Amino acid sequence: MTAQIAVLNGDYIGPEIMAAGLKVLAAVTENQNFDYALHPVPFGGEGIDKMGDPLPASTLATCKQADAVLLSAIGGPKWDKAKRRPETGLLEIRKALNLFANIRPTVISPAMRQYSPIKNEDPVDFVIVRELTSGIYFGTPRETHETYALDTMRYTENEIERIVKVGFDMAMKRRKHVTLVDKANVLDTSKFWRKITARIAADYPEVTYDTSYVDAASMKIIADPGQFDVILTENLFGDILSDEAAQITGSLGTIPSMSKGTDGPALYEPIHGSAPDIAGQGIADPLSMIKSVAMMLANSFDRQDLSDTIMTAVDKSIDDQIVTPDLGGTSTTDEVTDTIIKTIKKVG
Ligand code: ATP
Ligand code: MG
Repeated sequence: MTAQIAVLNGDYIGPEIMAAGLKVLAAVTENQNFDYALHPVPFGGEGIDKMGDPLPASTLATCKQADAVLLSAIGGPKWDKAKRRPETGLLEIRKALNLFANIRPTVISPAMRQYSPIKNEDPVDFVIVRELTSGIYFGTPRETHETYALDTMRYTENEIERIVKVGFDMAMKRRKHVTLVDKANVLDTSKFWRKITARIAADYPEVTYDTSYVDAASMKIIADPGQFDVILTENLFGDILSDEAAQITGSLGTIPSMSKGTDGPALYEPIHGSAPDIAGQGIADPLSMIKSVAMMLANSFDRQDLSDTIMTAVDKSIDDQIVTPDLGGTSTTDEVTDTIIKTIKKVG
């Protein structure tokens, strides 16, 4: 079977780091019994420029037929005055592919330790599993009146169940611990999450499960991040905590993410934006995209081996100080990418 991969190149540094990710994909799969076909399609700003739409129908059709979607960063000042902004394509594609689970790893590897503001030496390796298509960002009514405004935090049983299962399934592949982060001392939605999570936890006897209020959890992510394995949380809390977690790893330019539904393709992308300030200079950090490729190989194609090969090569490049300026280095995007590929070829 040939793996079908939709490729959304993105804007500004998007195409630069996508090229790096695809070069690494080609190198790591060489002679590894992994066949794939790439389907590049316009999206975001490129979609607006070429087809007048951030998510053209043909792009969505290609994504729906694919086994996985690789997306780079989109948007930027070029489309500030566009009728529809590139970012609207992101919300639409998440909805259309029903990507209700957003998964962000937070790892401080020995190689990255020097860049982290966290000074205790405990290993840090957790993932945030964030609900992505419901909660207060989508709940109705939302209204603005003369003297008040309101948003609605709403979750159905089904919406909670499916994300909780993603969290516990993820824990089974890891250190088997889930922390539900909520505000159950105040919010009814949080109490409802607890009830459903406790019920589902009973189906996973090997997984230990605890809860933390979001205010306490945000302190622990700084004070003692080593205690977490899987952080399971709703949309708003997950949005905030995942940006906080990104900061403790030392660089935005190194972090990948995955968004998935129940069936259909998962989508892999860097967590950062299109970095217009450094576009075209050849100095964008490609690690976020290269690690997105690694996440895709492990999660969509069951090739943990190839994923590990990439991650080991990434860590070696950091250890050897072959890094872009965001990590204090002087290497270019191409130099970092070629160094990683050289390591992969030696190992493979
Ligand atoms: P968005 O609203 O799309 O999230 P943003 O305003 O948060 O965008 P980013 O594009 O994420 O901004 O960039 C924030 C800063 O981080 C910028 O200075 C940018 O140059 C830097 N940055 C982001 N990604 C990378 C990368 N891959 N390599 C180097 N620097 C990066
Ligand atoms: Mg941002």
